[in-house]
Amino acid sequence: MNIESLYSIYKQYPSIQTDTRKLKTRDLYFGLKGPNFNGNAFAQQALDAGAAYAIIDEADYLINDRTILVDDVLDTLQQLAKHHRQQLNIPFIAITGSNGKTTTKELIHAVLSSSFATYTTEGNLNNHIGVPLTILKIKEDAQMAVIEMGANHQQEIASYCRIALPTHGLITNCGKAHLEGFGGEEGVRKGKGELFDYLRANNGMAFIMSDYPYLQEMSQGIPTIYKYGTKEGDVIGNTLASDPFLEVGFTKGLGGTITTQLVGSYNLPNVLAAVALGKFFSVTDDKIKASIEAYTPTNSRSQLVKKGTNQIIVDAYNANPSSMKLAIENFAKAKEDNKILVLGAMAELGADSLQEHQQIVAEIEKYPWKQVILVGGDFLKIKHNFLSFTSAEEAGQWLQNQHINHSYLLVKGSRSTGMEKALAYL
Ligand code: ATP
Ligand code: MG
Repeated sequence: MNIESLYSIYKQYPSIQTDTRKLKTRDLYFGLKGPNFNGNAFAQQALDAGAAYAIIDEADYLINDRTILVDDVLDTLQQLAKHHRQQLNIPFIAITGSNGKTTTKELIHAVLSSSFATYTTEGNLNNHIGVPLTILKIKEDAQMAVIEMGANHQQEIASYCRIALPTHGLITNCGKAHLEGFGGEEGVRKGKGELFDYLRANNGMAFIMSDYPYLQEMSQGIPTIYKYGTKEGDVIGNTLASDPFLEVGFTKGLGGTITTQLVGSYNLPNVLAAVALGKFFSVTDDKIKASIEAYTPTNSRSQLVKKGTNQIIVDAYNANPSSMKLAIENFAKAKEDNKILVLGAMAELGADSLQEHQQIVAEIEKYPWKQVILVGGDFLKIKHNFLSFTSAEEAGQWLQNQHINHSYLLVKGSRSTGMEKALAYL
């Protein structure tokens, strides 16, 4: 079946589902293949559950005229998304970078949706399946689309740009994340830079954090550039306080201050980015301010949790050398007494992993702490004098046994260490 025909089916049945457990009647089922499951094998179940059609790519699973056989289900999903994108004549804002993509995306969505019908990536669905699914959720009333693009290897962002055809783009930063797949820091810039390459070749526009010289360099040749930063640009703002909530004062672009519900001054660029997008798209200053102030993070991203007499910064969503260092620095600056670090290992660092963990230990040693607890992975393989445990649960158990009170904790680590599990014990 060609894409035009499939597109007319989609227009009739615009709700796409790839998981039969969540399927509703009239959904279009796409039988994707994953590492553990072959979605083709669930076609019957999908039709039984009321799917309008099941799209599959193995002839053995053809059932009746409600199964549609294509060459490749994933490729078809992506082509359908691109086709849908081509019917939408609205700004498509793509966001990538090493750290802060989701937070920046959510803040930008908060600001833009105060004034426009804005569609955005749900949660963290930023990969080869999430990007097309996000696009296929966009309805005809849309005035803006904000798409998060994640990547851990070269040519990934380029492939997402060929589906989403962004008109505007923002790279939050290029740091030490997914070093393994990208091939070092230069590789990260090249990989994330594929977004700017696309914008350069397609008369697009970029939003740049002017504090980062590498972004200035990477964005050369893009026809339109809008800058935000702490010193120069169309929007200028600085941290007034971050104890624990970030407060930003503006000297250009916006008057006054914004008091966020985000913990950590590393969120400053994310807030400035959202202000920049708001200003560029003519959202009023009042609405920009109110939207950012109302935004509360979810999913263990820079959240402040109170448990008994303890206050805990839960930043357990992910970690890499850049975000770990910033989080430690930020926490070291807090005025509270009895500070406890509970840090899980960082994943996907390749050959430099031991060295990167050693550098984090060196960073920790710069400041006084009541207690430092290191958990799992390469933290167990390097030299240090801190307490260490193999799992977040063990660390939690230890904290429980110590009857920790009136303390201020930072809990952070890679997704795979599941550091939030330590919280249950406090
Ligand atoms: P993922 O790669 O998992 O999609 P992401 O880029 O979407 O991550 P977020 O989920 O927004 O990033 O934030 C994850 C963590 O990264 C935060 O909890 C915080 O520790 C750190 N972080 C957020 N913003 C920044 C920033 N601008 N610079 C450095 N670190 C940041
Ligand atoms: Mg994300």
